Amino acid sequence: MTKGKSREQGSLFIVSAPSGAGKTTICRKIMETLDNLQASVSYTTRKPRPGEAAGVDYTFVTEKRFRGMIDKGDFVEWAEVHGNLYGTSRKRLERIIASGRDVILDIDTQGARQIKKTFGNGVFIFILPPSMTELRVRLEKRMSNTREDMERRLKRAVAEIREYKMYDYVIVNDQLNSSLGKFESIILAERQRSAKKDSAWVEKNIIRR
Ligand code: ADP
Ligand code: 5GP
Repeated sequence: MTKGKSREQGSLFIVSAPSGAGKTTICRKIMETLDNLQASVSYTTRKPRPGEAAGVDYTFVTEKRFRGMIDKGDFVEWAEVHGNLYGTSRKRLERIIASGRDVILDIDTQGARQIKKTFGNGVFIFILPPSMTELRVRLEKRMSNTREDMERRLKRAVAEIREYKMYDYVIVNDQLNSSLGKFESIILAERQRSAKKDSAWVEKNIIRR
């Protein structure tokens, strides 16, 4: 163990939002700003969007392979979202946490509920759009969905937004910089929890120096 750092397990940040609220944008930017923070790459049966890279944005698999992974218990959580299957790999998640890095899980409300049941100690963050009107504008701007898919996402958004009480924190993503500041504050506060400080580290590096 070095002076600056105690060897401790990483924290788990579960981030959900209705599609188009800005979750991907916020999560990407926060990982550029903060060290020691990593996203868990999910598996999905969805087709890649233009610009998405396999193994970076998602691991893109067939439904057959995905269902095989469910049967083997490879996922800590999985869900069907907008007609596609998405899941978090148990192995990937455990590897990141054991390395001491904090993990961001960008998952839907069904997945968040499963994680809440299995992991007692995650920090649950919900990102809201400023309004449904603005959510429609953002989905149109992204232009990565068909009209039919977009309407389905908007309908589902209302049901998801009503689940906000399950989360510890809510960020209304109006001005991006302000949302990033709020997200960063939540992560930095979590890192200062006394429960995260190893008593052997405090003895060695504070009390005996
Ligand atoms: P999600 O991952 O939640 O589906 P994205 O991050 O892809 O959403 O964002 C959807 C669209 O909204 C993108 O075009 C993105 O650039 C834009 N966007 C994200 N945050 C903001 C914001 N605070 N103000 C305006 N546009 C935003
Ligand atoms: P998209 O198709 O826009 O990338 O993602 C659609 C939704 O699936 C988003 O709400 C996203 O958070 C969610 N999602 C992505 N990966 C996972 C996952 O591994 N598990 C669950 N439950 N949801 C996921």
